[in-house]
Amino acid sequence: MNIAFIGLGNMGAPMALNLITAGHSVTGFDTMAKPEGIALAASAAEAAKGADVVITMLPNGAILRAVADQVIPAMKPGAVLCDCSTVDVDSARAVAEQAAAAGLGALDAPVSGGTGGATNGTLTFMVGGDDASFATVNPLFEIMGQKAVHCGAAGAGQSAKICNNMILGVTMIATCEAFALADKLGLDRQKMFDVVSTSSGYSWTMNAYTPAPGVGAKSPADNGYKPGFAAELMLKDLRLSQQAAQSADADTPMGQLAAALYERFVEAEDGKGMDFSAMLPRFEKRGRG
Ligand code: NAD
Repeated sequence: MNIAFIGLGNMGAPMALNLITAGHSVTGFDTMAKPEGIALAASAAEAAKGADVVITMLPNGAILRAVADQVIPAMKPGAVLCDCSTVDVDSARAVAEQAAAAGLGALDAPVSGGTGGATNGTLTFMVGGDDASFATVNPLFEIMGQKAVHCGAAGAGQSAKICNNMILGVTMIATCEAFALADKLGLDRQKMFDVVSTSSGYSWTMNAYTPAPGVGAKSPADNGYKPGFAAELMLKDLRLSQQAAQSADADTPMGQLAAALYERFVEAEDGKGMDFSAMLPRFEKRGRG
């Protein structure tokens, strides 16, 4: 396939390289990054011209909308615009409508798996959009990832991603505050793990991403809380979940509190650049006041 790849940052570049390695023809564009091994066009529109699929991997919804304005008029009829960024649900739906009005297919296909998953081709794609577009792009998802779930119509991929990550943020905070309480009660962390990981408090954050160093699963906690999944990316996703909750009139008090805690952690408490599990040392240092 002829593929245009717009946004060649930490995630986009390795994803594009995997498509090239699999034998596809990829033309890239990025306003800043110029990664080696990818043929680059002079603009997003030029990269998109003649492409069967245009993939975008960009920082946020405003940038996605701006790039869509540039590439949609340049795309050939029947081609598919596939956005893999994490953006707000409203932007995903707006871009899909704009593409449909121009006779193009569109998918929102955010990923989980991080830069390791992008490099190793083991991402999970959560996909919203029409069946025909999904069928066209699915072979590319199979190269860049290990699993693609077609979640429903436009916006369903972003919706699945932010609901999942809202659970993740809330659960990480609950796991960390419970470890900090256990510490203050004099309970040994290993014993705490042995009980909770096999009791009704178990979770992915406790069992697979244990936030306490030297206990449970090997995780960023064992590496000085170097990310991993950075606290500021968790904050981004929690903010998107609250933006969506606002626009859908959904009551999400725990998600709202998690967003406020990660905001304070990232903006006022040295959490920036730390893994999102560094909530544990944060709670450790604090009392109730
Ligand atoms: P990044 O900042 O490394 O890459 C984004 C790239 O987009 C940059 O190279 C930037 O120069 C480029 N860009 C910005 N504006 C542009 C424009 N107008 N035209 C063309 N290129 C433009 O970010 P990333 O870590 O690669 O993340 C990309 C997306 O993937 C984000 O939405 C992020 O939330 C999501 N995501 C990231 C991870 C992760 O672990 N890094 C995991 C899951 C999802």
